[in-house]
Amino acid sequence: MELTLAVDLTGSPNGLGLVDRDGKVLDSLPLAPTEALDGLWEELEGVLEQVPARVARNGGTLSACGVAVGATVGDLAGASGRDLLAEASRLVSSVVEVPVHVEDGGRAFALAEGWLGAAREVENFAALTIDETVSGGVVVDGRLLDGAMSQAGRIGHWIVEPEGRRCPCGARGCLESEVSVPAIELSSGRPLTEPSYEQMRHVGRMVGRAAASIVNLLDVRLVVCGGRVAREYASTMILAAQEELDATCRISFSRGARIVTAKTPAPSGLIGAAAVAWNRTGGVL
Ligand SMILES: [Zn+2]
Repeated sequence: MELTLAVDLTGSPNGLGLVDRDGKVLDSLPLAPTEALDGLWEELEGVLEQVPARVARNGGTLSACGVAVGATVGDLAGASGRDLLAEASRLVSSVVEVPVHVEDGGRAFALAEGWLGAAREVENFAALTIDETVSGGVVVDGRLLDGAMSQAGRIGHWIVEPEGRRCPCGARGCLESEVSVPAIELSSGRPLTEPSYEQMRHVGRMVGRAAASIVNLLDVRLVVCGGRVAREYASTMILAAQEELDATCRISFSRGARIVTAKTPAPSGLIGAAAVAWNRTGGVL
């Protein structure tokens, strides 16, 4: 049985697992949260030592390793100019000889939704995930769009309010500066879990505005929305997003586009990391 080593560093929480071709998680090991990249690698190194025995116990062979990276780990690496792929590959190759693939967590989420979630068997869709940051991926003609830096589809810095709040990236009115967890808590003065109805509607409208632009630009008919904010605000947010989509997707090919909530089964972070590996070794979409 072919297995992939899935390494979820999106903080959802961080963990590692063995996942088969059908998306079944056969084994999983937690990784302790950490504030520094070196600490994370040390933690990972210790857990990786258990992998060969776990693979043997499950009667499988390891084909590839997929790593999904969230904003915290991505920012740590970006700030210090470190190469996550090189560092993760070196660590993994010390215990198993398999190709290692590293992907942004939002793009991994898109792959997972196409594999086992709300966009299963859908050839053209976008997916966005709203947590501490906002990210995502776009699948066109059954393939995840990559781009020059392999970061295509990370929707967080699409401008939805030209006169809106300043974003951590330096621009103004990015989707992330309007709907991320910190943005919501800062603007409302309340925790994410205690929203007002109008706050949920506002987030939905902003998400719908960004989603409509993707639909009108790329001819996708489905947008999948996940992450903590989508889970907390649920149908109130999605309904507002759908209204915005209906109001702004008016051209013949975009009319009737839908926005829905994510459906990848738990543990979705590990499924996303596994999807990264399978996507590069035979495809999951
Ligand atoms: Zn921004």
